[in-house]
Amino acid sequence: MNPSPQHADQTAQTRHDQLRRDAASELRAQDKAAALQHVFYRIAERATAGLSLHDFLQSGHHLLCELMVARNCYVCLHNASTNTLDFPYYVDEQDPIESHTSQVPTRRGLAEFVLRSGVHQLVDSARLQRLIAAGEVTPSGHRAPFCTWLGVPLTTHGRIIGVLAIKSYEQGIIYTESDAQLLSFVSNQIGSAMERYQALNALRTSEERYRSVVENVGVGVVVVQDGYMVFANPSLVRIVGHPLPYLLSQPHTATIHPDDAAEVEERHQRRRRGEPVEPTYSFRVITAQGEVRSLELSAVGIDWNQRPATLMFVVDATARFETEQAQRIAMQRQRELNDMKSRFIATTSHEFRTPLAAIHGSIELLRHYEHRMPSDMKQATLQKIDDAVERMTHMLENILLIGRSEAGQVEFQPRPLRLTHFCQSLVDELRNAMATQLHDIQWQLELPPDDQEFLLDGALIRNIVLNLLSNAVKYSPRGGRVSLCIQTRPDALALVVSDQGIGIPAADQTRLFESFHRASNVGTISGTGLGLFIVKEAVTMHQGSIAVVSGIDQGSTFTVTLPLVIPRPANSPTGARP
Ligand code: ADP
Repeated sequence: MNPSPQHADQTAQTRHDQLRRDAASELRAQDKAAALQHVFYRIAERATAGLSLHDFLQSGHHLLCELMVARNCYVCLHNASTNTLDFPYYVDEQDPIESHTSQVPTRRGLAEFVLRSGVHQLVDSARLQRLIAAGEVTPSGHRAPFCTWLGVPLTTHGRIIGVLAIKSYEQGIIYTESDAQLLSFVSNQIGSAMERYQALNALRTSEERYRSVVENVGVGVVVVQDGYMVFANPSLVRIVGHPLPYLLSQPHTATIHPDDAAEVEERHQRRRRGEPVEPTYSFRVITAQGEVRSLELSAVGIDWNQRPATLMFVVDATARFETEQAQRIAMQRQRELNDMKSRFIATTSHEFRTPLAAIHGSIELLRHYEHRMPSDMKQATLQKIDDAVERMTHMLENILLIGRSEAGQVEFQPRPLRLTHFCQSLVDELRNAMATQLHDIQWQLELPPDDQEFLLDGALIRNIVLNLLSNAVKYSPRGGRVSLCIQTRPDALALVVSDQGIGIPAADQTRLFESFHRASNVGTISGTGLGLFIVKEAVTMHQGSIAVVSGIDQGSTFTVTLPLVIPRPANSPTGARP
């Protein structure tokens, strides 16, 4: 029998409806797959976003909510060594507990049931009762009764590490096997994202650990590549004393002291060429404040962003170098002092022995032959004693003076001084003291007008003039002209003492003013090497200078230049420079 047209219409309509339903469900399935794909992609992406585990799981929960009704959701992780559960994420409308609850002892709960069974568990209230009755779970008195509970294992590296669970308190929402399947997918996705998350986290933690070591270590750490710093830690910034942006923008030698830069660069290039370089060396840098600091550097070649670079460790050795330098100076000074003491003992004992022998000889002569000696000979012998005593006194004075000067007891006390008058009396004093040596000497004095006064320290000027003049006489054994010339210049006073004596070899002239230093050509002429040292001290106290022009057998000219201080009117205690 043929179907009626009405019936045929109905059949067509039914088939059409069916097709539409199929298309709609096809579309829904496609949408669902696309949504699933999207959620999985987002979960994977969140795992690398540097979130905390809680925030990562929270974003996973939000994404899960895009796929199904899952307002109540938690993740628990099982710690096998302590047999406890950690809840890095926990959201429950009826049972708000601290979201970061950790180290919860295991009990016979539903999560433990999933862990034990290793498969998902879909539990409604009827099944819960059965599970309780079978002793699989123990009832939890304080929790609100749910309608459905769905828990799936959470797996990383092929091992169950915890449970992802959702539950509903609403009568209308009953989870099904297909929800279990979906949640298992999501759990897998979260599991593998957690693997990546944990790997990244481990990397980040170790990187942070290294970074914190490098940032906080007291040693400066710097990486140089292609002649520029590409990394510098805060200690290096502090040591070098320039801001980091400046250091990174300049060639790596920019802050190095100009005298050391070439050597540092040369070593750097040698290391880059793979040639042997001392592993540690020092150089100086100039800080932003212009302060010079000494650094000690050790370096090693490394790869930085897949290209060769140099890793350097820098230590501020300024204080150590300064201490070492001070110790070296102190030791040198000690050596010099010891040296001076030995020379002092050698020179003075020799220099004292000569006049003592002269005194002794003269006394013996007088003792034995006094009655037979003509009176002029007697006088000459007595004069010899006088001269010897004078020499010893002069030496003692010099030694005492040096002692006082080294103890800082010599004070500079300038007073108005009639220099010409003062010098003339010094020349007279010298003539008396050196009478026996003066017979072939012609004196030449060029002095300023007699009444002119200068603000000078008389005791120190006496040391200068007497020592220079007595040397001029002493080192002119064949006689000749000895001159003292005082020239006044607008702002200075020049005291020039010259002779035509044995002169001073060029090699000795630089050390002439050191104590105990005597030139190589003195022969038998006696002396201690203290006179010029004393002169130099006296000149320095006047803030003046001394120079010598001399040559062997060509005489010597010593020029002392003293800044001129004009005496103030009589009622003023000190003078002022013009
Ligand atoms: P001294 O004369 O007691 O040795 P000085 O300190 O006065 O010590 O002089 C140091 C040295 O300088 C002398 O030993 C001598 O070699 C040299 N000297 C100083 N003055 C003269 C001079 N006018 N002519 C030649 N040599 C001189």
